[in-house]
Amino acid sequence: MFEETTMHDHRKLGRELDLFDTDPLIGAGLPYWLPDGAAVRHTLEEYIRTAERRAGYRHVYSPVLGKRELYEISGHWSHYSDDMFPPMDLGAEQVVLRPSLCPHHAVIYRSRSHSYRELPLRMAELGGMYRFELSGVLGGLTRVRAIQLNDAHIFCTLDQVADEARGALEMIRQAYEALGITAARFRLSLPGPDGKYVAAPEMWQRSTALLTEVLDRSGLPYEEAEGEAAFYGPKIDVQVVDGAGRESTLSTVQVDFHQPEQFDLHYVGADGAKHRPVMVHRSIIGSVERAVAHLIEQHGGAFPAWLAPTQLVILPISEAELPDAAALARRCAELGLRAEIAEPERGSLGARIREARLVPYQAVIGAKEASAGEVALRLRDGRRLDPRPVGEVLTSVAALIDAHSTDLWDATARSS
Ligand SMILES: [Zn+2]
Repeated sequence: MFEETTMHDHRKLGRELDLFDTDPLIGAGLPYWLPDGAAVRHTLEEYIRTAERRAGYRHVYSPVLGKRELYEISGHWSHYSDDMFPPMDLGAEQVVLRPSLCPHHAVIYRSRSHSYRELPLRMAELGGMYRFELSGVLGGLTRVRAIQLNDAHIFCTLDQVADEARGALEMIRQAYEALGITAARFRLSLPGPDGKYVAAPEMWQRSTALLTEVLDRSGLPYEEAEGEAAFYGPKIDVQVVDGAGRESTLSTVQVDFHQPEQFDLHYVGADGAKHRPVMVHRSIIGSVERAVAHLIEQHGGAFPAWLAPTQLVILPISEAELPDAAALARRCAELGLRAEIAEPERGSLGARIREARLVPYQAVIGAKEASAGEVALRLRDGRRLDPRPVGEVLTSVAALIDAHSTDLWDATARSS
């Protein structure tokens, strides 16, 4: 296992491991992703989308811009404009880079009529949003101006809110287990005394009571924090701690009575009359940028095998085994494994193994293994397995990766 004593700085590691970088010409707070970082991000996004589909969410796409009026209606304009980029003047109208996805999703919901039978209606999107951070605070992937948010809005009845919030917490638990990360604490985020919040005392009471009940029944320890709510409602926030000991919110579950009112959303009830749905906002991993930053720091670049940019490195001992190495690489590609050959010309076997120290699986092929159709696997944690048939090894590796396991090897699986 890894030492838990040192958390790493994701900015330094991100550059060293060729995951992401920034360029002054593109701009501060606007990182770009290199191929290895993009592989991690893509795999993470795929995990989230699959988990959401399984949990009954359906995905949409919506534009990253919207007219100023959209955010006036949602309340962002009056409660959140300090964090928004200035509007772009297009003559007759103004458009803004969106500070959140909620208003678009509310409009999408409103565009079709809905029966109570369709509720809870779970709408998800991994979409872009923008935050006008001051240039002095920008850095790495944690303070950025362009954010890819794992977002979803559940339109439901009041009776369904608690179950939906519980379902979201369970998805968060499962994701953290697969990602090998731990929550530092759970927080019930409440409004503060200043005027940042929409004024509707009865609404705040109802939504706070709902989230309190969900937390109490979950058995999770939590703390209340005033001044941390969204402007439209209270939140359950899942907090993580970075390498420097700074706490931030990764995941969140929120109850919102405000935006359904503002956008005049409704569904047709069993009684044939129109009723107002509640909106549950939730994010499993928060922004992709912050999630990957946290994963880099948590694992020091040694990602769980299913997330690793290179999952298996193939190490032919000499030039003679290159054709076998190429054949193994092809079999990996067919199985969807990300494999790479480290040719003998790149150095001694020991040097190549050291260079690949963050790769979960290292497959050594010598003359003996090549002629027997076998491979001797070394695991990132130092374990060395006896040579086994190639097909058997790849099946075991693919099964662990498909299961999003944080274990590198299943010792209980059938052995030769
Ligand atoms: Zn939202």
